[in-house]
Amino acid sequence: MAIEETAKPNRGKKLVIRNIGLLLSGDLEQPILDADAIVAIDGVIRAMGKEKLLDAEGASSVIDANGTALVPGLIDSHVHPVAGDWTPRQNQLGWIDSCLHGGVTTMISAGEVHLPGRPKDIVGVKALAITAQRSFAALRPSGVKVLAGAPVIEQGMVEEDFKSLAEAGVKLLGEVGLGSVKDGPTARQMVAWARKHGIQSTIHTGGPSIPGSSLIDKDVVLAADADVIGHINGGHTALPDVQIRALCEDSQRAIEIVHNGNERAALFALRTAKELNHLDRVILGTDAPAGSGVQPLGIIRVIAALSSLGELPAEVVFCFATGNTARMRNLEGGLIAVGRPADFVFMDAPQHSAGKTLLESVRLGDLPGIGMTMIDGVVRSERSRNTPPATRVPKIAQ
Ligand SMILES: [Zn+2]
Repeated sequence: MAIEETAKPNRGKKLVIRNIGLLLSGDLEQPILDADAIVAIDGVIRAMGKEKLLDAEGASSVIDANGTALVPGLIDSHVHPVAGDWTPRQNQLGWIDSCLHGGVTTMISAGEVHLPGRPKDIVGVKALAITAQRSFAALRPSGVKVLAGAPVIEQGMVEEDFKSLAEAGVKLLGEVGLGSVKDGPTARQMVAWARKHGIQSTIHTGGPSIPGSSLIDKDVVLAADADVIGHINGGHTALPDVQIRALCEDSQRAIEIVHNGNERAALFALRTAKELNHLDRVILGTDAPAGSGVQPLGIIRVIAALSSLGELPAEVVFCFATGNTARMRNLEGGLIAVGRPADFVFMDAPQHSAGKTLLESVRLGDLPGIGMTMIDGVVRSERSRNTPPATRVPKIAQ
C-alpha cells in the first residue's frame, strides 16, 4: 500500500499505450471505439486512434496492452471512507488499495459516517466534512481519487451553513436521511440550499441500514429531490417494487444501484430504467465499507450481475460505472476521450472463462481479469491480486 501526496507525479511525461485489443469509451452513445493506441501527456489523453496515425515519438513511457481491453477507470459512486486507507467499520487497513485492484480509480463519499464518535452538532458536522475533504485531497491512498468531505445534514442547519461549507471546498452532501433530517420538506430545503451553492446531494433510499437509522420511502426521496437516488435497491433493505418504479418514473435524478443492496431490487430497477429508456441515469456504487464488509471487486461484481442477469451487453453496463457517473456527477474522468484524465483499467477475459472475449465472459456472469490500472497516466497496479487471473496482461515496454 502506498500513500502519497497528490502533487502531479508526471509533469511533462508522454505516455503511449499501444496494441489495445478493445477500447471501451464509457459513453453509452458509442461504448466501443475503433482505436488501438492512446497518447497522454501530463496525465491527460491527447490523442487516440490507429497507432500508425498517432505521433508516438519521444514517449517517456510505453505500455504494450498486449491485445487486452482498455476501460475507463471505474468510479464507485457510493463509499464511506473515514481516514486514509483505514475503515473502522470492519477495522480494516488497505481497503482502498484492494478496490484499486478491482479496477476502481475514483470513489465518491456518501458521508464519513463511520468515524468513531462522529459529531452530530452542526459545528462538528461541518468541521468533520472540511477535514475529510482536505485530508483526501492531500493524500490519495494508492493514487485513488477519493472525493470526500460529505456532511450528513442535521436539523437546524441554515443556508449560511451550506454557503460556508461550499466556500471551504465541500462539494458533496452525505446521505440525506442518515442524520436527524427525515422529513421531505426539510430535506428538500437543505438539498436546495446545497445545490444553490454547488454542493451535490445523495439520499439514502430504503429501510434502515444500521440500528439508529430509519426508513426513507419514495415520498421522502421525491420530496427531497437530491441529485442521486442513493442505493435505489436498498442499503440493504429495498423499497417495494411499486415505489422503486415510482422513483424511476417520477424523478429524473441518478438511479444508483449498489453492491451492498438487494440484488432482486437491483434487477427490478435496471429493467424499469431500461423500459423507460433511462439507462443513461443508472450509476453504480458499493456502499462499502458496510455491514457486509469491504468488497474490493464490488463494482465489477455488479457489472457482471447486471450484464448477465439483466441481459444487457457488457459494454453498456461498463458505462454505468464510468461515463454515466461522471456525467451525472460532473466529474472529469469516466470517459476515454481526448481531454480526459488518463485513468484506465486493462482487462481481459479471466483464464478458462466459458466466454472467449472480455465482453462475452462478463455477459456470462464471469468477473473480468484485471492486468493493470493507471491513474493520471501513472501505473498504480499490475496483475490484480484480487480478480481471477486475466488471460493476457499488458506489459511495460519502456
Ligand atoms: Zn451508504
